[in-house]
Amino acid sequence: MKKIGFTTTIPVEIVLSAGHVPVDLNNIFVAGSDPSALIEEAHTDGLPRNCCSWIKGLYTVGAKLKAVDEIIAVSNGDCSNTHALTELFGEAGIPVHTFSYPYNEPYPSKALKTQMELLAGKLGTTLKAASQYCEKTDKIRDKLKMLDRLTYEGEVSGFENHLWLVSSSDFNGDAGKFLKDVDDVIAKASLREKNDKSIRLGYIGVPPIIPAIYDFIESKNCKVVFNEVQRQFSIPSENADYVERYIEYTYPYGVMGRINDIAERIRERRIDGIIHYVQSFCFRQIQDTLIKKYLPVPVLTIEGDMPGNLDGRTKIRIDSFIEMLESKKKK
Ligand code: SF4
Repeated sequence: MKKIGFTTTIPVEIVLSAGHVPVDLNNIFVAGSDPSALIEEAHTDGLPRNCCSWIKGLYTVGAKLKAVDEIIAVSNGDCSNTHALTELFGEAGIPVHTFSYPYNEPYPSKALKTQMELLAGKLGTTLKAASQYCEKTDKIRDKLKMLDRLTYEGEVSGFENHLWLVSSSDFNGDAGKFLKDVDDVIAKASLREKNDKSIRLGYIGVPPIIPAIYDFIESKNCKVVFNEVQRQFSIPSENADYVERYIEYTYPYGVMGRINDIAERIRERRIDGIIHYVQSFCFRQIQDTLIKKYLPVPVLTIEGDMPGNLDGRTKIRIDSFIEMLESKKKK
């Protein structure tokens, strides 16, 4: 049994059906005791300051700490920086398998199926076995849907929603324990009084490198009822075809698919405004223009760079945004 790391969400049942332990390198990095120290270690090795902090964190976790035995690097559909990162992992002696989501392929399902079959073969399993493994993981995904519903109904906080959905990329390395833990959270949340704060916010964009943002937002008269990418990481599609689930997963593809999904959730969850988090030096910042153009509610874009606390300027901008939404709602 090996620890198989990955640079972003992959069809995790492939790893599980091969009998290995899945490890999302992002979760190891950001949930560690001192993520800033991991970034500094990457700087010491020469990684540039004007490179996204997530990439530097992943580099240290994979290449320096050698937290996993092998790495699946998603070379298309996540981040172009992963190409260079793959070379650094290889140089550090870590076996790397690449995995690519389709981009502008004439037959995307066929292309993705080929990628999944290749990955399954490299890890010592088959796509059929991975698909059958969904019988187990679907139980978890059903619970995560319940937890997500309890979030927009008011019993689960925006941070709890973020934490459990983002952790579903690797089920914290133990799918059985993860199922039990989510069950416990749901049972406790069901006993709570509903949070009836008046402003309902959606969080979109990559997961924040500053999770403290949730505490700050929810200390105001508002509640986060939607975490876009984290929800996508939980693979909400119920398509009977395993490959198609990862075609319906919006994160690796064009921004218009994401915008359609976000707009649908805005209607479903009666969202008043959107916080669009962007990471410094991330190419996805460019998509902010289209997001603002097509979403039907006000959007506040905030940028984070290093792990730590929310800075004063960002707090003031969030405060002003909430005040604007409150006054709009009163009118
Ligand atoms: S935040 Fe952007 S630049 Fe950083 S790893 Fe993610 S996709 Fe790449």
